[in-house]
Amino acid sequence: MQANRRRDTGPELKVRRFLHARGYRFRVDYGRLPGRPDVALPKHRLAIFVHGCYWHRHGCGRGGQPRTNAEFWQAKFDRNADRHERNAAALRQLGWRVVVVWECSLRDVEGAMAPVLALLRA
Ligand SMILES: [Zn+2]
Repeated sequence: MQANRRRDTGPELKVRRFLHARGYRFRVDYGRLPGRPDVALPKHRLAIFVHGCYWHRHGCGRGGQPRTNAEFWQAKFDRNADRHERNAAALRQLGWRVVVVWECSLRDVEGAMAPVLALLRA
């Protein structure tokens, strides 16, 4: 995927550790699904994307604005958003549920993962 992708970033590891500690089985970087979800739980048909606040322009203020080449970066951010929406739509078509966990929300892992657990138990 894009060059900025890192496989084992801190936020993704937090999500995986949380699920692993609760006995959930999952796949990482599941390339067989649209958008290669960061964490996928095939048994539950739940795909989790862990979004970095900067790359996905979260409104939390953590991302900041690029100081140079503003148009270039804006176009790149827009493509990220478009791609995510396309992938999420494709996943839903395949019968998967899609959930986004924001990097900043993982400062409180329990809180951030509560909606995910709710989906897993539904
Ligand atoms: Zn954020």
